[in-house]
Amino acid sequence: MNISQLLERNARKYPEQEALVGMGQRLTFREVDKIANNLAHSLMKRGISKGDKIVLFMPNVPEFVVSYFAVQRINAIIVPISAKLGPKEIGYILEHSDAKALFVHELIFDAVKSLETNGLLLVKSGQAVPGWEAFSHLIRTETEEILTSHAQDDEPSTILYTSGTTGKPKGVLFSHRNVLTVAQMICVEMEMKPDSRLLHMMPLSHSAPLHLFLVAGMIVGAKHVLVPTFTPDLLLDTVEGERTTHFFGAPVAYLMTAKHPEVGQRDLSSMKWWIYGSAPLSAGEVKFVQESFRTDNLVCVYGLTEAGPSGTLMTGPEHAEKAGSIGKRAALHTEIRIVDLDGQDVAPGEVGEILLRGEGNMLGYYKNEEATKETFIGDWLKTGDLAKFDEDGFIWVVDRKKDLIISGGVNIYPKEIEEVLITHPDIHETAVIGVPHAEWGETVKAYFAASRELSAEEIKAFAGNELASYKVPKLIEQVEALPRNASGKILKQPLREGCV
Ligand code: ATP
Repeated sequence: MNISQLLERNARKYPEQEALVGMGQRLTFREVDKIANNLAHSLMKRGISKGDKIVLFMPNVPEFVVSYFAVQRINAIIVPISAKLGPKEIGYILEHSDAKALFVHELIFDAVKSLETNGLLLVKSGQAVPGWEAFSHLIRTETEEILTSHAQDDEPSTILYTSGTTGKPKGVLFSHRNVLTVAQMICVEMEMKPDSRLLHMMPLSHSAPLHLFLVAGMIVGAKHVLVPTFTPDLLLDTVEGERTTHFFGAPVAYLMTAKHPEVGQRDLSSMKWWIYGSAPLSAGEVKFVQESFRTDNLVCVYGLTEAGPSGTLMTGPEHAEKAGSIGKRAALHTEIRIVDLDGQDVAPGEVGEILLRGEGNMLGYYKNEEATKETFIGDWLKTGDLAKFDEDGFIWVVDRKKDLIISGGVNIYPKEIEEVLITHPDIHETAVIGVPHAEWGETVKAYFAASRELSAEEIKAFAGNELASYKVPKLIEQVEALPRNASGKILKQPLREGCV
């Protein structure tokens, strides 16, 4: 079993069915398969072979998908990277991953223009540029020979780099089996079928959009609708225009769309599953989104890149009582525990760290055995997420271990403070961090963005109504907007470094 077989199989089973829609193109499975086969040939002719790393720097465009499957077909390793990265970050990954080739889409070509790329095969979509091979040329290479991958399922297939919120980015290495296991999980859980139409607006360089959506849809021969950026208008237009059935988005994408003045009048009836993950939606936010989208089928997925990202799932009806939690069951093929510092399972109500076990867990960090060792206890993956079970077995993420603030020896969870501040009618985003303090070790600092200027005193008084005094932020800073990563998640590291 390997990833390449999925496309090869669909091309035989559903040759004339539409497979990819994006950037004004509509391609059938037969066409995608043919283009991927040509590209795989061209890569082989240029010396790319089994185990070589190919860095893919592209937004959600058809060339992304074709390149992904071409690389899998020759048993090379795909390294998709965020389309938002700058030259320095790209340079680091090219070197660290031992890349043999770099594929770039013309929309973001500027970011790589000045890079040192000696010895790499350079491929660019769109207009020709000296030193770069044209993508269109590589896929036109006519060949009758059909390449088939015979990769074993435990061989490496993919490296995804973490966003490097703590230190340098780490390369998360997956086998074919890791990827296929989590893809099958979501395929079954979200009832994907050949007539499903998946809307891809979150960056395919991230584990959830790539494995839970692109590869999952390929298992059953679903259609993939690719949109290179997210805006609420584009989301609503594409759902209506393509009659899509599945969407995966970060909470911020849902909240922005729920505020769109036309959301109530738009026809969203084709949508079967609205899936969110990568960060929580609070109970109030869930209600707001459900009402705006007129849906009961909001699904929460919890996971992390290193786990594939398989973790837990919470379906629509469970939100009625437990919105804000991450559900009460591990996803298919996954097991979950919450343990204390000694590795013992905690009792309900007690906070511990979430551990995950399953075939989705990464092989390890590429070229970083030490970090890999630190991340596993046996075959259980340490998530770095602190959480507790409630009396009904639902799991509530309390915060991330690395975000925990210890002030005067007392644990303070920033998430609890953020959940209070966000209920202020004028505040639309907030992040709380710990900053060094000579006497207490750390003290609480809140950043927020609001629709009007708010004084520190106002914020303190507001927080003080809900929180014990030691949790009330001592330092407060209003900003225009908080830093977010490509999938819309708030980044705390730039705040810690004072870069806002
Ligand atoms: P980095 O690249 O620095 O590791 P990251 O940790 O944000 O960035 P991901 O692997 O995408 O990268 O994020 C996983 C984390 O996101 C989880 O460990 C958890 O803290 C959070 N998370 C994911 N899904 C949910 C959810 N449904 N509810 C709450 N938190 C979530």
